Amino acid sequence: MSLSTTNSKPDLKDFTLEELTTFVAEMGLKPFRARQIFSWLYRPGITSFSQMTDLSLELREKLAQKTQISVFTPSTLEKSEDGTIKFAFKLKDKALIETVLIPEQDRNTLCVSSQVGCAMGCGFCLTGAMGFKRNLTPSEMVNQVCAAIEYITGKEMGSLDNLVFMGMGEPLANLSNLLSALDILMDQRGLNFSSRKITVSTCGLIPQMEKLGRHSAVNLAISLHAADDKIRDRLMPVNKKYPLNNLLEACRIFPLPKRRRIMIEYVLLKDINDSPEEAALLAKRLRNIRCKINLIPYNETAALPFHKPLQERVEKFQEILWGAGYTVIIRNSRGADISAACGQLAGCKRSPAPHMSVIRADGIVDL
Ligand code: SAH
Ligand code: SF4
Repeated sequence: MSLSTTNSKPDLKDFTLEELTTFVAEMGLKPFRARQIFSWLYRPGITSFSQMTDLSLELREKLAQKTQISVFTPSTLEKSEDGTIKFAFKLKDKALIETVLIPEQDRNTLCVSSQVGCAMGCGFCLTGAMGFKRNLTPSEMVNQVCAAIEYITGKEMGSLDNLVFMGMGEPLANLSNLLSALDILMDQRGLNFSSRKITVSTCGLIPQMEKLGRHSAVNLAISLHAADDKIRDRLMPVNKKYPLNNLLEACRIFPLPKRRRIMIEYVLLKDINDSPEEAALLAKRLRNIRCKINLIPYNETAALPFHKPLQERVEKFQEILWGAGYTVIIRNSRGADISAACGQLAGCKRSPAPHMSVIRADGIVDL
């Protein structure tokens, strides 16, 4: 775990259970105390040590003196026509991050951010255009999930079922904090998510993919977006360091649990990577990789010169991959009206669309 703010009291939500055990041992406490405190931290509605009623008053005061518990309250909350909800959170250093809740018929999925901005520089991505500001701490990733659970519970919307690290940032460029956050999210005493319910998406940082695979059995998504190096080099600078052959080989040897597949994400950009030839090449190059393919028609943003492909090109692309035996889904992103769709997260204030309501944290509706 590495923290970006050093002069404040340690935030207990930055610690995995193992790290908390070491931390409380230094305060002269037994390991069972760490388990007790850790499970309090992730119960709904817990915001202060005074609520931890099975700890002595003396210990609660000592913890409050030496440590803190962070809690996220959305600074704004926007609801799309299609039900997608975008939360913005203002961090301690005033940086803004965004988190997107996608309710579906049978499940709720949360799209979690891992960095403020991104250093990877993919030309079509708004987060990339922001540049890199900083890594999120484990607690800043976990608190996005806690806040969404509070919201879902308050609205009686059921449970939070899936987590996808597909928000702002490149999660594998913030690997050690990501691994701590995953440990907290998957700990039975933490948020108790199964590894099957968590997906980490990467632009293709090969050494970090290997480390992630060794650390936990979460699902892996690869932002591929091209089947040949010439196009991928242009779209994603990371390809110059980790070219397609190497990336696809890393996918082939990625330790997948039984019945699991890697998700290949392919954003279709008009007249750039949407040709039938590119589809045929993709089919060839993905051979022997246990995968399913998500085709994502590009979400246009005024700031970037890329366009959505024609619907018939998207369908043709899918047909070619189907013909080669792949599972292929066309994923039309949701929440575009509130800039919550894939690649539209930039944590900046935009002028609201006319049909959009903005609900402030205090429940007041701004229109
Ligand atoms: N950095 C990681 C995690 C972000 S996931 C990664 O790149 O995988 C966000 C996904 O949305 C990525 O697949 C990204 O390529 C895609 N994306 C970015 N801009 C987009 C846009 N305008 N329309 C559709 N998808 C976009
Ligand atoms: Fe970063 Fe992913 Fe956007 Fe590329 S696509 S700039 S890696 S967030």
